[in-house]
Amino acid sequence: MKKCSFCGRSESQVSLMVTGINGCICDNCIQQAYSIMESQMQSQSNKKDNDKGLKQKRIPKPAKIKEYLDQYVIGQDEAKKYLSVAVYNHYKRLQQPDDDSGVEIEKSNIIMVGSTGTGKTLLARTIAKLLDVPFTIVDATVFTEAGYVGEDVESILSRLLQVADFNVEAAQRGIVFIDEIDKIARKGDNPSITRDVSGEGVQQGLLKLLEGTMVNVPPKGGRKHPDQDYIHVDTRNILFICGGAFDGIETKIAQRMNTHTVGYNSVQNVRKIDKKDIMKYVVPQDLKSFGLIPEIIGRMPVLTYLNPLDKEALAKILVEPKNSIIKQYKKLMEMDGIELTFSQDALDVIVDKAVEYKLGARGLRSIVESIMTDAMFELPSKRVKKFEITADYAKQQLEKSRLQNVG
Ligand code: ADP
Repeated sequence: MKKCSFCGRSESQVSLMVTGINGCICDNCIQQAYSIMESQMQSQSNKKDNDKGLKQKRIPKPAKIKEYLDQYVIGQDEAKKYLSVAVYNHYKRLQQPDDDSGVEIEKSNIIMVGSTGTGKTLLARTIAKLLDVPFTIVDATVFTEAGYVGEDVESILSRLLQVADFNVEAAQRGIVFIDEIDKIARKGDNPSITRDVSGEGVQQGLLKLLEGTMVNVPPKGGRKHPDQDYIHVDTRNILFICGGAFDGIETKIAQRMNTHTVGYNSVQNVRKIDKKDIMKYVVPQDLKSFGLIPEIIGRMPVLTYLNPLDKEALAKILVEPKNSIIKQYKKLMEMDGIELTFSQDALDVIVDKAVEYKLGARGLRSIVESIMTDAMFELPSKRVKKFEITADYAKQQLEKSRLQNVG
């Protein structure tokens, strides 16, 4: 009697039996073998594609990266420069040959300090677009120490895997932007008073990821669960960019700078401090006094800052970037055959309002939106070819809107 040489079933137990020289195989085993072969070939070809992709894709030089950023992000030159270099080095590091020189380039995670709406996320997002690697933004405020309500730090990697279509190799060289890193600062110097489940505990968890480790990632994110299947992700080559507003850090910087000026050698130490741009003096020590643990700070060797946006910068943001807000609204109207223009005075009104709201560039969009709502509602059904937003029209629309009560 013929029996399948793989599963041992007899001919009567299966629907098809293929006979070879020294054995047989049933239809079940053929199917199983085929799926094993297919998944094996798929993962091999993915690996080849990834290796090839990485080797063949020429990483633009830092100056080119900055040029690209300039098209989308106004000002923030220092942050752009630091980011360009760090990202360039990161990718060089991924391509380093396995030689026996003993020199191993270590990764340089980045931390950006700057108030809300100054372009931290925009910078990270723009750079990821240029490099065409899996990129995800996570908010540090949702994380809590393991065992408490909230998310495990590892869920960061679940998101990265999701955007990489579960291609582990691609995810392992992706970029993660962790926003609001300042919100996981240690709450006080004495941890025993209340449990600090979203502060230091989370920092410790994050530390492991930043350092580079093998992590068991729950594919769907959320909490780890003993019965779940995990995907193993190596974080050694993932670039972490962290951003935070660190509200009040200016005071800490100022304090430090002042304390330096007293003492024996105060005369040598007296420097001209640019009080308006105090952020540019930020050093790792200031992050420590803000409540980040030294180990975390040590794992983010590139520290850079973003300036608060002044009136001039806001005015440029409104019109200059490749996809500036004004350009977007013009395009919207153009699709209805209407040529939309803004008078210079109207632009000034918008910028003045944004300064008043103190939301950085974030305020610009909501202001323009409230000015444009009526026009966008009415114009498409009228036979208008041109429409100009004047200062008077802008003011009148703003007065009508709810935004009026914000300032
Ligand atoms: P945050 O610093 O809080 O991460 P974002 O990068 O999210 O701020 O900025 C919010 C929005 O404001 C962006 O989508 C962008 O439209 C605009 N914006 C902020 N800063 C700049 C900038 N320097 N240049 C151009 N647009 C900017």
